[in-house]
Amino acid sequence: MKITHIEPILIELPYDHGAPKPFLRSGTPRTMMDAVYLRVDTDEGISGWGEAFGFGACRIAHAAAEMVVAPLAIGQQVDDISTIMGDLNRKLQSMALNGPVRFALSALDIALWDIAGKIAKQPIHRLLNPKSKRTQLPVYASLMRIQDAEYVAKVSADAAGRGYRHIKLHERTLKCVAAARNAIGSDVALMLDTNCAWSVDEAIDMGQKMADQNLFWLEEPISPPDDYDGLARVQVEGGIPVAAGENLGTFQDFRRLVETPSIEYLQPDVTKFGGITEMWKAVTFAVENNCCLEPHSPLYGPGLIATQHIVAAMEEEAMVEFYYCDLAASPMGEGIYAKDGLMTVPGGPGLGVEPNVDIIEKYRVA
Ligand SMILES: [Mg+2]
Repeated sequence: MKITHIEPILIELPYDHGAPKPFLRSGTPRTMMDAVYLRVDTDEGISGWGEAFGFGACRIAHAAAEMVVAPLAIGQQVDDISTIMGDLNRKLQSMALNGPVRFALSALDIALWDIAGKIAKQPIHRLLNPKSKRTQLPVYASLMRIQDAEYVAKVSADAAGRGYRHIKLHERTLKCVAAARNAIGSDVALMLDTNCAWSVDEAIDMGQKMADQNLFWLEEPISPPDDYDGLARVQVEGGIPVAAGENLGTFQDFRRLVETPSIEYLQPDVTKFGGITEMWKAVTFAVENNCCLEPHSPLYGPGLIATQHIVAAMEEEAMVEFYYCDLAASPMGEGIYAKDGLMTVPGGPGLGVEPNVDIIEKYRVA
């Protein structure tokens, strides 16, 4: 079975997260959730769907899929994913160790797993782990950056009221963290992600100041995000378990992170890290090294569904990240939303969810 056509699709979905819209780096409010989906067609009529990491990289990831990945992948046999991906990784070694070309390759890999599952008539989690029996997955609500303590309290209480038992903030002040903790009480776990806000010394200081907030993890507290020795110092001296890894590009990067002692939670992202193939290598390596892998997935498309399959297939329990909001329309249906803090594992072949093409056409911009 050969790949005949590859189409990257840029979509923008209106959303509501219960607070004023966060700001983009350009200084304008983020009014849309944008994403890059990838459709891969074959000569036998089976199509697969993937997703490239988006946010500010959407348009360049779309271009990378169209200009770099698609020309190399069209005409290849789909039957052996590791052979195709190995070939593309070698051919693109000068530009695909990380960044938008890597994101586009990740989308292709996810789509190939969708096709493989459809050929085998098995959901992806069963291809990864035939013994997988999970039907429900714990989910954490990952709140957008709000920067206003009253709204942080309001949205945190909303999420707890919807049944989430774990809530992650993207704030940078003790005031906002304390407002959330006060709003949700002591029974709901609270995580903090600063998106690399601080120096090592600042992060240690903030960790110590937040000792009373009982944080479950402190995510990407420092810049640069690959200062692994600095992250380890923050965990030991700041006193809060550290989470990191969403900016990893390859399994070799993951191996280096695992080999750094004192980083508690490792967070590769299926849409950045090379897709399901590389994520599963990371899962296996994490188990062999007694590490906790908690996938990064602030997504609503095929990348989120792929993450559900990875978490469903894992021997160790992990959570799915849900970037907390209500979309104007969900191309992947209602399965992207948690009920009582749980998502249902898709049971159909491949991803188990076919994107709604009418919704995609309505919201596509390229
Ligand atoms: Mg993060």
